[in-house]
Amino acid sequence: MHAAGALAVWDLCHTAGALPVGLDEHGVDLAVGCTYKYLNGGPGSPAYLYVRRELQDRFDSPLPGWNSHAEPFGMRPEFEAADGVLRGRVGTPDILSMLALEAALDVWDGVSMDAVRAKSLALTDFFLRCVAAYVPKGLVESLTPDAHAERGSQVALRCEGAGDVMKRLIERGVVGDFRAPDVLRFGFTPLYVSFADAERAARVLAEVLES
Ligand SMILES: *Cc1c(COP(=O)(O)O)cnc(C)c1O
Repeated sequence: MHAAGALAVWDLCHTAGALPVGLDEHGVDLAVGCTYKYLNGGPGSPAYLYVRRELQDRFDSPLPGWNSHAEPFGMRPEFEAADGVLRGRVGTPDILSMLALEAALDVWDGVSMDAVRAKSLALTDFFLRCVAAYVPKGLVESLTPDAHAERGSQVALRCEGAGDVMKRLIERGVVGDFRAPDVLRFGFTPLYVSFADAERAARVLAEVLES
């Protein structure tokens, strides 16, 4: 792709906070992501943008605003992008959401991503084993790759009536989501989801499917 002169944008929504990333290390061009999933920023927390250092002065933001202007209070008729990555800012920042996110990010201080990844894989492996042990054969089919290198921090299971099954799981405190037409998704946030949570989720799933 680079050989053809193209740049790549990576979507990190299911990556940041779930596994080691290394954007600088891998020479990534551009990346975007949300902070309300594995980074725990809460509903409405801000998105982020990564632009490789060499590209920052060429970056042409699709969402320019006063806050990305070279002179934000200059009230000039023309837009002139700020130097460097500041040109990627959007409009007025949502301060309360940023404060909540800051607190959520503080939790990561001193946390090793390798340890997070190890627990994430152990949790998803364990959940799949519990599902295989508790759910009668044939009622669910795992769509999650067995190979660790191909797995994120979630498990997707296909089953009949998945929408209704997820409603009943949520009523019982097992909160995942439903993707049409027939997929149940379970996210595992290694910082605070425990093996006991994973075992209970599989047990409640088996009870719901058998009832
Ligand atoms: C959650 C998610 C998004 C949505 O991000 P927003 O910041 O809510 O717009 C985009 N892409 C992927 C792959 C996601 O999982």
